[in-house]
Amino acid sequence: MRSDTERLADAADNDGRLVESRKLSKQLDKLQETLHRIRSAPPPRRERDRKELEATIKIAEAEIENALKIPADDVQSSADQRKKLKRLRRSLAALDQRIRFSAVLNKKLPKKGIYIGIDLGGTNAQMAAVSSRGETLASKKVVIAGIKDPAQVTEILASEVRALVEEAGREWQEVAGVGIGAAGTIDFENGVVIFAPNLNWRDVPVRALLQEKLQVPVTLDNDVNACTLGEWALGAGQDYQTLVGIFWGTGIGGGLIVNGELIRGANGMAAEVGHMVIDPSGPKCGCGNQGCMEGIAGRRSITRDLRAAIQAGEQTVLTDLVGKNPKIIRSGDLREAVERNDKLTLRILKNAAAAVGLGIANIANLVDPEAFILGGGVVEALGEWIVREAAAAARKDIISADRRELIVLPAAIGDNAGALGGAILAMQNS
Ligand SMILES: [Zn+2]
Repeated sequence: MRSDTERLADAADNDGRLVESRKLSKQLDKLQETLHRIRSAPPPRRERDRKELEATIKIAEAEIENALKIPADDVQSSADQRKKLKRLRRSLAALDQRIRFSAVLNKKLPKKGIYIGIDLGGTNAQMAAVSSRGETLASKKVVIAGIKDPAQVTEILASEVRALVEEAGREWQEVAGVGIGAAGTIDFENGVVIFAPNLNWRDVPVRALLQEKLQVPVTLDNDVNACTLGEWALGAGQDYQTLVGIFWGTGIGGGLIVNGELIRGANGMAAEVGHMVIDPSGPKCGCGNQGCMEGIAGRRSITRDLRAAIQAGEQTVLTDLVGKNPKIIRSGDLREAVERNDKLTLRILKNAAAAVGLGIANIANLVDPEAFILGGGVVEALGEWIVREAAAAARKDIISADRRELIVLPAAIGDNAGALGGAILAMQNS
């Protein structure tokens, strides 16, 4: 039998450890906050503070080593701490990688100047002026609906870009480059839009047209590549060097960054994730193939499936919201139906998320990226819920799910990703 004194001594000892372990948890939280703050600073700032950051990383690592030596009495709190440690270690590694990268990036980039990014769609162009430090100086949306003539469209872009620089309170002489992301098939090397269905353009030399009007270097790429660059440099992907962007809207497009470099492929067709075949016997896709991710899960396909079910007489709150024969089902309607736990809407959206998830699993098995960033209209409408659904589906299909961490994050800069990415494109290529 143990004496009371022994028991009391044990209890005191346990209390001591518990206090110590709580203290450690708090320290870890604080460290995580500090890291988050440093990560959010613009790259040049990070570069300047590099030495200080390296010291912080060393201290943090020493703390982690100490933390691992603390006996794990309280099972739950020790499990929590292990998770925190794991996250912290990953953040530290990513931060260190990022600092090294921004040092490289900064050497390549001019220290001065401003860059213009343009996200050119079929009905409007979103544009942004960005400093070489990555700060947005001004941004706006320009409506080009109904105008299809390339000379006219580039004329509008040119004059709006000049106005934007003025709105930012800067001089045109400061503009070091313009980057455009356009929806469609792009010849990156030659700056030509090979085919843009929503503008009905074929073989339009956009780079040459704009360069002539603006007299600054112009870079042209696919809009989804630009969005991926934007999210990577200034949005949700800042912690990662190998990531995949999936932009899930009317169509589904993708972008692939490996070791900090955008991969375009031999024919500029890399990362066409929307046309990965998910189900060979699935519905026909706009590209002519059957069972593409886009043909199952794209916004148009979601509407198609909902309409078919409504017309077949299935019970759904959507009939209250959009009637019995809806032409369009707005994002707000989808969101409300999900919030009201509508069986039909949930089934069709989960089916779409499963298709995207299967695509994510396939890409993960091929590329093994650090993270996936999910953006686009569907994700903006339905938020983190649909991201979680797709991630959960992916985890079911991925190999070695228990040994790897599949990180799937919602995009962070929304509508502006393409324009900001265009500016990054200009920084990298001007
Ligand atoms: Zn397709």
